[in-house]
Amino acid sequence: MTKAVERAAAKARQHKCRAKVLTGRAYLVTTPENHRYTVRFREHDGERYGVCNCKAGARNLACFHLVPAAILDTAVQSMRGR
Ligand SMILES: [Zn+2]
Repeated sequence: MTKAVERAAAKARQHKCRAKVLTGRAYLVTTPENHRYTVRFREHDGERYGVCNCKAGARNLACFHLVPAAILDTAVQSMRGR
């Protein structure tokens, strides 16, 4: 993991964000302050890219909302047999 992602992961644990599946590979992330963000994933050359609709995500920064969504996405993808 890159440093930015590690920092994001630490922040996500600290903030106790929760994620749930919306449709396909879109996830709704809820923060303890009840802010809701939508995170979407796509695959490119076997790599997973996540985009969040918060301010940091709009600037292509790794925000901590991606982390719970990525964990859920991994679980969902493995359930789908991929
Ligand atoms: Zn975000």
